[in-house]
Amino acid sequence: MKWLGLVFLLLPLAGRAAEPERVIDVHWHAPRIADLPAWTDAMNAANVSQVIVIGTPGQIDALNLSEGARWIPSLTFPCEDGLAVTNGQRCFEDGSTFPPLALIRSLVAAGKLKALGEINAQYMGVAPDDERMEPYYALAEELDIPMGIHLGIAAPGVAYADSKFPPHKSPHYSGAAGNPLALETVLVRHPKLRLYVMHAAWPFLAEMQYMLYLHPQLYADLSALQWTIPRAAYYSHLRALVAAGFGKRLMFGSDGGVTRLKEGVDAVMAADFLTAEQKRDILHDNAARFFRLAK
Ligand SMILES: [Zn+2]
Repeated sequence: MKWLGLVFLLLPLAGRAAEPERVIDVHWHAPRIADLPAWTDAMNAANVSQVIVIGTPGQIDALNLSEGARWIPSLTFPCEDGLAVTNGQRCFEDGSTFPPLALIRSLVAAGKLKALGEINAQYMGVAPDDERMEPYYALAEELDIPMGIHLGIAAPGVAYADSKFPPHKSPHYSGAAGNPLALETVLVRHPKLRLYVMHAAWPFLAEMQYMLYLHPQLYADLSALQWTIPRAAYYSHLRALVAAGFGKRLMFGSDGGVTRLKEGVDAVMAADFLTAEQKRDILHDNAARFFRLAK
């Protein structure tokens, strides 16, 4: 019965082999402070070294960012009627929709802000090439900080009055405003802008491929796709992006939360069409390069 002992010896090893050594999560919405310990435990369990924490100034301030190397604070806007579109949190002191440029400058100078995003303009029906966005692209390019823009997927029925998701209503959500083709003028006007498309713009596959193809500096994250759409639909999007040659520019994102993090990592690790190197790239190395994080 010696073989049985060997099986039990090997089983834990087999389990461990399916876990990545290191993960960077580029799409983590700021938790309530009460949830922070559980979320931190989940990050530790998933070998997450760094997270991009998306929040309002208040949310970012409330988090203890003393673990500076791990938490990368990122400012979300615009805020419809002064409220964050996905959670209804109050955004800026002056109640504005778009943050004052001076606020961003001062937060970045003080080391309290390292990125811009999630840019939720689509929730307000504002397309990426809308002139109201222009000063922020210019500023992100000047300050040399990464910027992530939400494109594509949202909860079904998001624009309807009886929508329950997100809790803060988004009556102006526009599918048309989520087309990656509208990034074209932005990218050409700001060639040094470090921009990434969130949710890989699902379901705009051809448009996403075309933008990644034409603009070698553009990256995309895979956040939310692991829990919002059927796994087959997520894999078909991911497989097509990798097959088109963009495996070095796709980044893992959980969209925040213990379950989404685990589901997201597991989904990448279980994708049999990805090589071990491609999984490492998506879960860690691409983000380390894009965000210039220490290895
Ligand atoms: Zn989003």
